[in-house]
Amino acid sequence: TRPASFEALTIQTLPIRLAGLDALATHLGPDHSAWKVREVGDGNLNLVFIVEGPKGTVIVKQALPYVRLVGEGWPLPLKRSFFEYHALIRQEARAGKGSVPAIFHFDEAQALIVMEYLSPHVILRRALIDGRELPRIATDLGLFCARTLFRGSDLAMTARERKADLALFADNAELCDITENLVFTDPYFEAKLNRHTPGLEPLVAELRADRDLKVAAQRLKHLFAANAETLLHGDLHTGSIMVTDEDTRVIDPEFAFYGPMAFDVGMLLANFWMAFFAQAGHEEGNSRASMRAYLLRVVWQTWSVFRAEFSRLWRTERTGMLYATSLFEDRGDPLGAEQALDEVLNSLWQDLLGFAGIEIHRRILGLAHNADFETIEDKALRARCEAPALRFGRYLAVNRDRIHSIEEVNGLASRIE
Ligand code: ADP
Ligand code: MG
Ligand code: MG
Ligand code: MG
Repeated sequence: TRPASFEALTIQTLPIRLAGLDALATHLGPDHSAWKVREVGDGNLNLVFIVEGPKGTVIVKQALPYVRLVGEGWPLPLKRSFFEYHALIRQEARAGKGSVPAIFHFDEAQALIVMEYLSPHVILRRALIDGRELPRIATDLGLFCARTLFRGSDLAMTARERKADLALFADNAELCDITENLVFTDPYFEAKLNRHTPGLEPLVAELRADRDLKVAAQRLKHLFAANAETLLHGDLHTGSIMVTDEDTRVIDPEFAFYGPMAFDVGMLLANFWMAFFAQAGHEEGNSRASMRAYLLRVVWQTWSVFRAEFSRLWRTERTGMLYATSLFEDRGDPLGAEQALDEVLNSLWQDLLGFAGIEIHRRILGLAHNADFETIEDKALRARCEAPALRFGRYLAVNRDRIHSIEEVNGLASRIE
């Protein structure tokens, strides 16, 4: 029942093939003929099965040697499952149990991960489209980002350990390549796989002719590729987060690799801002004014929790080679450490605004669109939501070193047309 080399699971073969695994027997019950298998199938890249047994339910996620959404014409290596597994265990260690699904089993040759079934969780993006105000997301995600980004860097790890980890994740080159092209380059010229909502043509032409914007996007790509400062999630949008009112879990870190801290935070805030701009498309008679205000509060609070936690870790866990306490606190100069913290946070702030702007552009102009806008059926209405988001993204990317506060950015989001 165990093939020697990779073989994709099916609903029919899964129980027989995984029957011998302790991890499944323990969670589902040992009689595999009683397991019921369903495919989730809303992801773009991989197979995800829900396996339900007499004792409980688990998720089995398996990579395919190609992009599921596109088919065998777009090969993608199975080893992304290895990076997803290694990122998940690091995120759990750094951000704490309950920040990601519990991991029960990993099979490298079969590129499969058995993990906790999150229920009654839903994908955060879906909840925000439905107008649900989740009370915990800002705090949970602000803490998740601060802890994973700080603790995965030379601020906390020993230099040797971090270099070994950097080498381990350096091989995730194909998934980085997707980000490098689809996020930073393709939206800014007529790339083949691009698409956009009809009616946006004049604005799209204006953005693609915008020299300052193209230079900013390439400067950010340069940072993304060259500034390997911490282990990133790499795909931290609202479709990679599952929620209830009481619980927040981050899933799907297959894009994990060493890059700039600001990338994860910028992508996350960009997705909140896009949810904000999309609300007008989901009103259907009910005003979304309070949902819009909620989303801006979430942005504000995520950044404020992030900063507070990052600062706390800076003061209490700065055990790596950077900004050593032997230069500052131990020499009676705690103010020096505070000055360095302000510098680091300030450059993170500027970079996250840039990454946020570019993320908004690629979701409206590139290949991978998001449901916030795509579920707005009326295309004219959709274009009216997307146009201000595009202008907002351009403003952030080009003016990121002149923007002072999250209040200023939220004010801009409210006023821009
Ligand atoms: P992909 O890499 O293909 O995008 P994801 O890891 O994002 O795959 O999973 C696809 C979908 O499967 C998610 O949107 C979610 O609906 C469901 N899913 C994934 N992991 C879990 C989990 N641990 N518990 C419940 N549902 C999950
Ligand atoms: Mg996903
Ligand atoms: Mg939790
Ligand atoms: Mg994925």
